[in-house]
Amino acid sequence: MKAKYPTTKFRDVWNYFNSISGEINVCYARILAGFKEEEMFSLLKIRTSKIKEEYSKCLDWGDLYFFENIKGLERFLIQTKWFEVEKIKSNVQHEKEHAIKIKQLGYKISGFDCWLVLENKQKISYIASCKMIANKLPSQEEYSEIALAPKNPSYFDKNH
Ligand SMILES: [Zn+2]
Repeated sequence: MKAKYPTTKFRDVWNYFNSISGEINVCYARILAGFKEEEMFSLLKIRTSKIKEEYSKCLDWGDLYFFENIKGLERFLIQTKWFEVEKIKSNVQHEKEHAIKIKQLGYKISGFDCWLVLENKQKISYIASCKMIANKLPSQEEYSEIALAPKNPSYFDKNH
């Protein structure tokens, strides 16, 4: 897969992820308050597709790459020559640790997403994430376990 020079801003992907994790937290809060889990899970899916639609104005989906396996993600990032190989290896290891935990808990993954983005001063960066296939909502404890699985959790992992 060939990388194109990104136009999406880091900040916008960051806000997009924050909006989705906010919805997930609202969903867990409602379940705690007694709302039905299946209903909240359906609502969450509707809300996240709405958020996706809203963010389509500022996100270029052409900057989002998908990989069925982690080797593909690693090869892609190395091929761009935009990033330090050491950094790529440690980020790939980080995502692998999320993936292992997801599988340990009995869930499946579809693969890995990777956003190529522009930071301040047009510096190219990337945001990789592991994609879990959720047919039902994981418990809040499982969600935490997955987020905190890597040895070095990211800001997002810690503030999930
Ligand atoms: Zn992480």
